[in-house]
Amino acid sequence: MMPKLIPSQDEVMQTLKRTGAFREGHFIYPSGKHTPHYFQMPLAFRYYDTARVLAVALSRKFRTEKIVSSALPKIAVISPSPGGIPVAFGVRDALSAEQIYWAEREDGKRRFRQYVNQGGVHPVIIVDDITRTGDALLETVDLVRELGAPIIGCGVIVRFTSAPEKIDDDVPILSLAEYDAKWYDDGENCVECRDDAPAEHVRF
Ligand SMILES: [Zn+2]
Repeated sequence: MMPKLIPSQDEVMQTLKRTGAFREGHFIYPSGKHTPHYFQMPLAFRYYDTARVLAVALSRKFRTEKIVSSALPKIAVISPSPGGIPVAFGVRDALSAEQIYWAEREDGKRRFRQYVNQGGVHPVIIVDDITRTGDALLETVDLVRELGAPIIGCGVIVRFTSAPEKIDDDVPILSLAEYDAKWYDDGENCVECRDDAPAEHVRF
């Protein structure tokens, strides 16, 4: 069976559920926050086939953006963090883009893992597995600006609706699924706590 060109949001969520990357229940973060859902995106990317389907789908969204498709293959795909590396490699592969970079947070500051020369970077698309607040994407925007490279695209597998819809003023954050996340600052207001649902403490 031929896979559909771009899977629906529902199909993407089913894939994430099937691989354990998306779970529903009752979770408590180290910060003390409670939530009825838990995303651990690397679990979806441990299966090559799943990783490929998701990355190809995201790449097709990028191809519909004329500013991106007309710049290929001279594009740099950049991941804000190691978590986005499988997405970045998959999208790079599907688009035949020439460059790939990724950043890491070190001593509280995000910086490129590679030594990157000003002027050596193609127009940039930023990709990540998930964006919850948009902070990592926005910090990466600042990094790319310092390099003087234009940002022509941005895309994630899952975008929480709490994250911005755009970066860099006019670049939309493309996504395969949007998710309206629920957070409780503590157990007081948590619906699952009120229902005495057993809680799982998660590391991140
Ligand atoms: Zn709770």
